[in-house]
Amino acid sequence: MHPSSPKRSSIRPSRLPGDCLPEARLPGAPVLRAPLLRTALLSLAALALLAGALVPTAALAQAHTDVPAAGAEAAVQSMDYFFPEGTTFDEAIPSPEEFLGYPIGTHHTRHDRIVAYMEELARLSDRASYQSIGRSIEHRELPVLTVTTPANHGRLDAIRETHLQALDPANDPIPASDRPVVVHLGYGVHGNETSSSEVAMLKAYWLVAGQGAEVERYLEEGIWHIEPVLNPDGRDRHTNWANMHKADPFVADPLDREHNEVWPGGRTNHYWFDLNRDWLPLQDPSSRARIDFHHQWMPNVVTDYHEMGTNSTYFFEPTKPVGSWNPLLPEELYDDITLRFADDWAASLDELGSLYFTKEVFDNTYPGYGSTYPNFLGGLGLVFEQASARGHIQESTHHGVITFAYAIRNQLRTSMATVRTAVDEKERMLEYQRDFFTGGLEEAAALDEQAWVFGSTVDHTLNRAFLDLLLRHRLEVWELAETVEAGGRTFEAGQAWVVPTSQPHSRLVRSIFETTDTYADSVFYDASTWTMSLAYGI
Ligand SMILES: [Zn+2]
Repeated sequence: MHPSSPKRSSIRPSRLPGDCLPEARLPGAPVLRAPLLRTALLSLAALALLAGALVPTAALAQAHTDVPAAGAEAAVQSMDYFFPEGTTFDEAIPSPEEFLGYPIGTHHTRHDRIVAYMEELARLSDRASYQSIGRSIEHRELPVLTVTTPANHGRLDAIRETHLQALDPANDPIPASDRPVVVHLGYGVHGNETSSSEVAMLKAYWLVAGQGAEVERYLEEGIWHIEPVLNPDGRDRHTNWANMHKADPFVADPLDREHNEVWPGGRTNHYWFDLNRDWLPLQDPSSRARIDFHHQWMPNVVTDYHEMGTNSTYFFEPTKPVGSWNPLLPEELYDDITLRFADDWAASLDELGSLYFTKEVFDNTYPGYGSTYPNFLGGLGLVFEQASARGHIQESTHHGVITFAYAIRNQLRTSMATVRTAVDEKERMLEYQRDFFTGGLEEAAALDEQAWVFGSTVDHTLNRAFLDLLLRHRLEVWELAETVEAGGRTFEAGQAWVVPTSQPHSRLVRSIFETTDTYADSVFYDASTWTMSLAYGI
């Protein structure tokens, strides 16, 4: 189905799905059923024991949750459940299930075990290399697994340098057909939206151990950076919660403790700050490490995997058409390139018969979102939102019972479709990125403001902090050589700095200094202002 005509059930959620915020309880949902059932089950179990008989686990799950069998059965699945029929793997590489010791979807995987699996893939395969790009505040690694052909691995630095040279409008164009597309597959910036990082392991397994001409083409034509956990501290906070409160059999009642994580939950970082708003302010060390990695590689496609309310379905971009697009970004990215990808996500979910919608919510205005900042590097940033089981299984308006495994499978399939489309559209993505920087320079040349000057003569800490931010975003900054008057103020040579608007990251300069006050719509997803110079009081 084309994304412009989204599938919807006739039952609408009680409110629009917000990323990771659990939806309010729907009117009419049972409140007392679970305790009554538990009492009944205890009696049943006692009777069964007395009779010397064992009640099969599946039967207990069915009786306990009082939901369609399809939902409960999907809670425990093998690799065949997740991958398209006919997908084959190198038997020398362990699947996540073989490595972890439990089927994916039956347990929440701790961050250190995800890291261990990524390291194991790199140890066993010459398709993969592992690195930690930094540490979280609680000293957890920030893992990135890079997957490509062994030959590409042998010249990874040269590939990266050529990729960067090709973006410089001052250089002669380098044919896109000769270069791989660079894709950053990111998962789990919100730690309690947990299907994403489980998907990352399956995705890594597919690219590292997958067999056949199709996977080999992806490896030949792409550099795949898999970042399985963007928020390790939040991830473990929620993972421990879900695992310590789960029961056997699983409990689907939304009132069960497993599904009601205590505040502050795993969404945020150590200081309860939302890392999916931090790509511009860069207040968390993991954000600073991540930005550095993105500037090193300048990816053409960046995915950002989330979960939303249990009673929703699945969302992929484009975001809502009115007022959702940052006016500094080329519209081609929104109304053409994204649609090309959306066709493939729709097809991948149609194949499963999974419900989805698009174009109805979310926006791409604030450059501090993980799905918007990459647009400012000439790539395509993409947000995905899956209805959350928020635990292992949970009653849901659209699904009867939504299972963790079901959520993981939907996310895996759109993630696999992204790989396919990124390779199919490789030349277009590479050429678009070069045009992005050429176009930015042309727009900057037409501006009234040719440069921004700033500098406090009394607050040197503020100067240093703001300079640090600009340099982390790889902006060109010059020390003021002679005293100037600007904006009714005098800026002293040696105590002020100049940021030209005409520079490679001209659109980031404008985002940080300009005040954009004209939009097609006044409704934002949340962030509605981001002029960082004002935030710093510069
Ligand atoms: Zn989220």
